[in-house]
Amino acid sequence: MARGLLVRSVERMDRTPPSATAGPAKAHTRVLVVGGGVAALETLLALKERTGGALRPTLLAPHARFRYRPLAAYAGLVPDMTQTVDLARMAAEQGGGLVCDRLAAVDADAHEVRTAHGARIGYDALVVATGAVPQEGLSGALTLGDPHDEPALARLVARVRAGEVGRLAVVVPPGVLWSLPAYELALLLRHAAPAGTTRLAVVTAEEAPMVAAGADFGAAVQGLLDRNDIELQTSTWPDAVADGHLWMPLQGASPVDAAVALARPGGPSLPGLPCDEHGFLPVGPDGRVAEQTRVWAAGDVAAHPLKQGGLAVQQADVVADDVARHLGLEPLTSEGPAPAVLRAALLDGAGTLYLRSRPVVGGFDTEVSREPLWWPPSKIAGGRLPSYLAERETV
Ligand SMILES: Cc1cc2nc3c(=O)[nH]c(=O)nc-3n(C[C@H](O)[C@H](O)[C@H](O)COP(=O)(O)OP(=O)(O)OC[C@H]3O[C@@H](n4cnc5c(N)ncnc54)[C@H](O)[C@@H]3O)c2cc1C
Repeated sequence: MARGLLVRSVERMDRTPPSATAGPAKAHTRVLVVGGGVAALETLLALKERTGGALRPTLLAPHARFRYRPLAAYAGLVPDMTQTVDLARMAAEQGGGLVCDRLAAVDADAHEVRTAHGARIGYDALVVATGAVPQEGLSGALTLGDPHDEPALARLVARVRAGEVGRLAVVVPPGVLWSLPAYELALLLRHAAPAGTTRLAVVTAEEAPMVAAGADFGAAVQGLLDRNDIELQTSTWPDAVADGHLWMPLQGASPVDAAVALARPGGPSLPGLPCDEHGFLPVGPDGRVAEQTRVWAAGDVAAHPLKQGGLAVQQADVVADDVARHLGLEPLTSEGPAPAVLRAALLDGAGTLYLRSRPVVGGFDTEVSREPLWWPPSKIAGGRLPSYLAERETV
């Protein structure tokens, strides 16, 4: 049951056995990876490792540089530490190349994609890793995770630091299972506010904090809230913030000076590919998109219920494995993908709390520590990308 929260399985239809579609891959086998985020980059790194550099993958991304900015959303509450990677160089290191453009549509019958600039790119294997689209979390509130709201959030943080905000609510809307950034923001704001100036509350639709990661994980988060005098309201979802109040259907209005809501992830509904009711790509346990023989999806664009960078990286590894098998580069084994592990480095203003949850029968096995539980101890953890970034130290 726990595993079902991490990776959703769907029946794969029309799946042709790999041996029937693919012989040993040659250098001209066309592997197209779409996206310029953590899932796409991890796919490139994993493909090279799995195939010994036998492929020449093309990366299709809308920008020339990857900006690793897991702390930028917190608008100056912690040092940004943005790292950047030249995507053309990275793709070349993996034996491939970069096309700077956007995916506009997929023609699965012709095995080609159309780009926003009108180019057509053929593929033998297509990996879609275009992420989710951040949507407003609460009408009238700032949206945490929407880059457009970062300047306004920075202004709010400045007011909190100046002791000008009396009541502030951080809201987790329904349907957001990776809610940790909301708790992290509340804890960071607590440390930014002069003593006694700001009453902080997290208002969440969850039954308990981080319920998707298990009871022990949630208890650790709850303990931090208690110690930092942050009020918690669970199973509550406001309709809007307006006229200095949070408006809640059952509880009525509650006064606030400001509210920040976590973004709700939306699916991109890519033309030419199937999607679920929210626009995400339905995938099987091996990351293959439903009804498709040559298309995979990894990261937030896939219809996995939990949207998290560390999981995106693990999904990319699973996809790279299956793509390699599909292309005849590895013997087929009966082993399925390894269960996903949730890793979180939670900044609470005083330091970092490391949490790791592994799904086990009936729940999760959770470790909580002030010492790193993985290395390098990055915010987005797992796979090869954190080590790749740490080795380069690009700024
Ligand atoms: C405030 C906040 C804090 C977070 N903190 C953490 C954390 O501490 N740890 C953690 O593990 N996760 C964290 N997450 C979640 C994490 O950021 C995401 O799960 C992760 O970025 C998903 O990676 P992705 O590669 O699937 O998508 P993205 O990182 O969104 O990358 C998608 C890429 O695809 C590109 N793209 C989009 N459309 C197209 C197109 N049509 N054609 C080509 N390319 C396209 C985009 O430009 C982008 O480069 C946080 C999220 C938020 C909102």
